[in-house]
Amino acid sequence: MTFKNEYLAKVYADVCKRNPNEPEFLQAVGEVLESLEPVVERRPDIVKAGVIDRLVEPERGIIFRVSWVDDAGNVQVNRGFRYQFNSAIGPYKGGIRLHPSVNASVIKFLGFEQIFKNSLTGLPIGGGKGGSDFDPKGKSDGEVMRFCQSFMTELCKHIGADTDVPAGDIGTGAREIGYMYGQYKRIRNEFTGVLTGKSISYGGSLARKEATGYGLCYFTQEMLAAAGKDFAGKTVVISGSGNVAIYAAEKATQLGAKVVAMSDSSGFIFDPAGVDLKVIKRLKEVERKRISEYPKEVPSATFTPGCSGIWGVKCDIALPCATQNEIDEESAKKLVANGCIAVAEGANMPSTPEAIAVFQSNGLLFGPAKAANAGGVATSALEMSQNSMRLSWTFEEVDAKLKDIMVNIYRNVAKAAADYGLEGNFAAGANIAGFLKVADAMMWQGVAY
Ligand code: NDP
Repeated sequence: MTFKNEYLAKVYADVCKRNPNEPEFLQAVGEVLESLEPVVERRPDIVKAGVIDRLVEPERGIIFRVSWVDDAGNVQVNRGFRYQFNSAIGPYKGGIRLHPSVNASVIKFLGFEQIFKNSLTGLPIGGGKGGSDFDPKGKSDGEVMRFCQSFMTELCKHIGADTDVPAGDIGTGAREIGYMYGQYKRIRNEFTGVLTGKSISYGGSLARKEATGYGLCYFTQEMLAAAGKDFAGKTVVISGSGNVAIYAAEKATQLGAKVVAMSDSSGFIFDPAGVDLKVIKRLKEVERKRISEYPKEVPSATFTPGCSGIWGVKCDIALPCATQNEIDEESAKKLVANGCIAVAEGANMPSTPEAIAVFQSNGLLFGPAKAANAGGVATSALEMSQNSMRLSWTFEEVDAKLKDIMVNIYRNVAKAAADYGLEGNFAAGANIAGFLKVADAMMWQGVAY
């Protein structure tokens, strides 16, 4: 990573020195700092106030042991994390990832990105992220419950409805949030909106489950519309088959597109007739099975093992919705060669910097994660509002607010890019727009943190 600006080069060198062996975190920081070059040139007050030096260091990080007993009676030990990155504009907010690949680097990159994403929503939420290297796949409900209870036994000391409000992420769905909420309430004796992504029966918001995927499509639709295009009649490829992927597929289909491929970590399905979402939802949400089961029920489809092959499927629009760095330079070139016109990120940091460069140099519309997938956390903030007011909005009310938020995010991101001479570069626009609000709040609040 090279910077024209000396100050940013020094900040980045310090971050590298302080966080060795954390490649994902350094990638996320490097990408944001690069976009801030024109801001630093124009705003010496931000540099003088040390805003960027402070922003790259989490306000607080908690690492803890999570021990639990499996069904065979054996003691298991996992590691839990919560990085409370920035509270300048509101309580820390960000999901909990449960996946064997979780480590400090992954949680810090996610927490860092969350600062800017949450700022872009226009709602009062700071940035944080948590997780554990526990793998819920293949575990019984009892094992998942005991893990979640042990995880929350420590985490509950550090969170609260006005302090830090975690939510779901990879491996953490309604089941895990429910077990964690139950344990929080048991220990703290409080019924508050301390977690979002809850089930409807105890304070969840309608449309939260759908929000990230739907929001991704609302953002993409706005980005396409500004370029005189839309979803109708387009072929779409979506990686993943979890929460974000399923509801992105549902909304893209409602908007008139045909989703022809989806995946999980074992491989991808190709269904030229358009994926049957009823089957995907049952396999993934109810039966917790592998996507390779899909062609056994839908004869028009085929299954191919391996993750990256999905980017070789011809499409107009690609929506990566699985995990970080899933599109590398080679996959990006395949998308371009096959005539893809737009890529919008449902997952966090799914495209490598080299892949983004390929998209931008070939004139594709590129919707970065911080902007395009912000609908999930925005609707989580709407869940917090409903919990505080002790009322619930209808599905239509929440969905309409989500749509407004995503349209505004697109417009603010496009405007910030244009204001700083980077018209059409939505990745830079998202970083700049998200940053400026947080920077302003940090300057008002002084240098204590
Ligand atoms: P889920 O756990 O519901 O689904 C994740 C999907 O991605 C699964 O199909 C999973 O396959 C696949 N996947 C996960 N890890 C890998 C990997 N290392 N390689 C290949 N495939 C993988 O998670 P979500 O849908 O909630 O999250 C998906 C992405 O969206 C993440 O990047 C998350 O941070 C981001 N996101 C989620 C939000 C939300 O509201 N849930 C909000 C904003 C962003 P398998 O089952 O085989 O592991």
